[in-house]
Amino acid sequence: MNEWIAREAEVVAQTYARCPVVFVKGEGTTLTDDAGKTYTDFLAGIAVCNLGHAHPKVAAALSEQASTLCHVSNLFYTRPQVELAEWLTQRCFADRVFLCNSGAEANEAAIKLARKYFHDKGESRSRIISMGRSFHGRTMATLSATGQDKVQEGFSPLLPGFDYAEFNNLEALEEVMDETVCAVLVEPIQGEGGVIVPDDGYLEAVRALCDRHGALLILDEIQTGMGRTGKLFAHQHTSVTPDIMTLAKALGNGLPIGAMLATNKVMAAFSKGAHGSTFGGTPLVTAAALAVVRAFDDEQVVEKAAETGAYFRVSLEKLKAKHALVKDIRGQGLLLGMEIDGDGAEVVKKALEKGQVINAVQGKTLRFVPPLIIKKAEIDVLMDVLDAIFSEMNQA
Ligand SMILES: *Cc1c(COP(=O)(O)O)cnc(C)c1O
Repeated sequence: MNEWIAREAEVVAQTYARCPVVFVKGEGTTLTDDAGKTYTDFLAGIAVCNLGHAHPKVAAALSEQASTLCHVSNLFYTRPQVELAEWLTQRCFADRVFLCNSGAEANEAAIKLARKYFHDKGESRSRIISMGRSFHGRTMATLSATGQDKVQEGFSPLLPGFDYAEFNNLEALEEVMDETVCAVLVEPIQGEGGVIVPDDGYLEAVRALCDRHGALLILDEIQTGMGRTGKLFAHQHTSVTPDIMTLAKALGNGLPIGAMLATNKVMAAFSKGAHGSTFGGTPLVTAAALAVVRAFDDEQVVEKAAETGAYFRVSLEKLKAKHALVKDIRGQGLLLGMEIDGDGAEVVKKALEKGQVINAVQGKTLRFVPPLIIKKAEIDVLMDVLDAIFSEMNQA
């Protein structure tokens, strides 16, 4: 066995079902393991490295900031944090940004903000409605909001004040809505839930239900944001604007950063001392994130995601037409899922052997979330590999 895999097994918490590969290097869409074998990355560290690995401008910004100023705490002002917040708020509904270190923390902040907003208004609303099969994180509040038994099992009692409605089902949502609901928390496309795209008009109708009951709408764009679906934020495919939006994953292209964005009206409830984070928005990570978003502008990364995503989808549809075990193709931009009648983990393993990094969610859905700079020729190679794997599985 690989020495590092053996050593990991002795000293690291065994919370992850890892693939048996030790990666040592990444460049663009290519990963290299400790034996020198190269792979094309169709996972991007779970929708994180949207610019690809080791982006030179991000590396340079990181290196320069690392040797200038990494951290001083939020007891002081630092420039990259302000510039990042300006960039983000110039491109969406939000007026203000709270910076933190992960997706779960961004959702924690959103949940706290929603409750505090109504508290400050003197209204006793605290219920948060989230969706079945959703994923919002692993902290106690965010797993209480996560509508999946396998994430919640063993951690009861969960936090009170969380209720669920089936995703993409407006009647189910309507049933749980009343004047005790402070916010509806929803992903524009469910990522971990199996790449589930709601019907056209769903988000608009959720927004309308929130408005009718005076509740806030929180969009979890942690996976769908930062160009992943072919718009900077997935809700920008619709006419909906949320009150609060959460980001993380691709915002730092691999640096740990999360953000909770809101309108002036709502963010006013985060008054001095109401929330905080030692590391949130350090100069180091915000300088990196600033280089990331500037590269988005300079390299038309979002436009590429839309165009390459359309090509990828057509390629997947061709495989579906050829193989009966392919049941469904879902997604938008470069957040794509292929549901198969078979074991997703087996396909992931076989693809890995052939130098293709993909992943499976909910057992049967292969998920493709490559760097947004992925090339059509690289997609063609993956299609040939999957074609061969499916043919082999069909014979077995
Ligand atoms: C990944 C993810 C999270 C959690 O982010 P972490 O950084 O792992 O805490 C929350 N919501 C969605 C939609 C995600 O995809």
